[in-house]
Amino acid sequence: MNASVSAPAVRHDWSRQEILNLLALPFNDLLFQAQTVHRAHFNPNEVQVSTLCSIKTGACPEDCAYCPQSARYDTGLEKEKLMAVEKVIEEARAAKANGASRFCMGAAWRSPRGKDMPYVTKMVSEVKSLGLETCMTLGMLDENQARELADAGLDYYNHNLDTSPEYYGEIITTRTYQDRLDTLANVRSAGMKVCCGGIVGMGEEAGDRAGLLQQLANMPEHPESVPINMLVRVEGTPLEQEADLDPLDFIRTIAVARIIMPQSHVRLSAGREEMSDEMQAMAFFAGANSIFYGEKLLTTANPEANKDMQLFARLGIKPEERHVHGDDDAVEADIAASIEAAHNDKFFYNAAQ
Ligand code: SF4
Repeated sequence: MNASVSAPAVRHDWSRQEILNLLALPFNDLLFQAQTVHRAHFNPNEVQVSTLCSIKTGACPEDCAYCPQSARYDTGLEKEKLMAVEKVIEEARAAKANGASRFCMGAAWRSPRGKDMPYVTKMVSEVKSLGLETCMTLGMLDENQARELADAGLDYYNHNLDTSPEYYGEIITTRTYQDRLDTLANVRSAGMKVCCGGIVGMGEEAGDRAGLLQQLANMPEHPESVPINMLVRVEGTPLEQEADLDPLDFIRTIAVARIIMPQSHVRLSAGREEMSDEMQAMAFFAGANSIFYGEKLLTTANPEANKDMQLFARLGIKPEERHVHGDDDAVEADIAASIEAAHNDKFFYNAAQ
């Protein structure tokens, strides 16, 4: 954090119009404001890195119009059973060896069933014992399930609002906006950190993007992590033919999220793989400071796999240090080595040298 830049107050009373006004600022003014707020709260050259692991893929009963995991759409996705605990630990070890500081486990469920809970809580405690932060996304949680996960040591729970309350019915009909808010409240009262954001480019208006941001920013506590996803149009889903969103509107959404939730990590999330390096760089400038590693990074020596680290090296960005019990130093050393390896990769052409 740069102490020379004064930190504006954290607010929870944003009106829709105020947020729309921010979204409509001249682009340079908006980015300047976002970067100024960002510098008041964070090191602008650090990005937090998480690794995502799908512990149960496909066959979800919900009807989220963007999602290839819904059983209602024929997307050719192979459905899988809940991954064995040992396999999850193996993946978490590999993620750690590649420098991730947080391991996120996702299951395509409406909500976890009673018989699933012993497995998922075991995953949490085992992954945590490796010295990684833990995050899960398992669908809706009642109070007891939230408490069980918190007791197992789960640090973060991800549950997105997806879009504005007004547009929500166009995207999902099998659970209500209020169901989502209830789950988020259960997560909070169990003492876990919240990861909550949404998706843009689903045919919504700027007013809906403002509506989503308003919901997030007016929560009694801002989510610690705010993923802003760009729709990935998957064949077979109802949104496969959705029109392109102007990429600058995506950057505007990131910038406004940064301004109105100044202490949250804003995550550049789904859709990142389809973005150019320049667009990702602009998103970091607008205040995004968290990413998921590409899955391919878990396999070694592939130049594609090093793409994220190469981009970090070109931008002078370092992965953010996390203070997790366990050997942080080893994680930092691993990640520094990954950046060094990216520099040395014969496929890495650094035009700045
Ligand atoms: S609940 Fe999650 S996994 Fe299921 S369809 Fe919706 S987004 Fe996909």
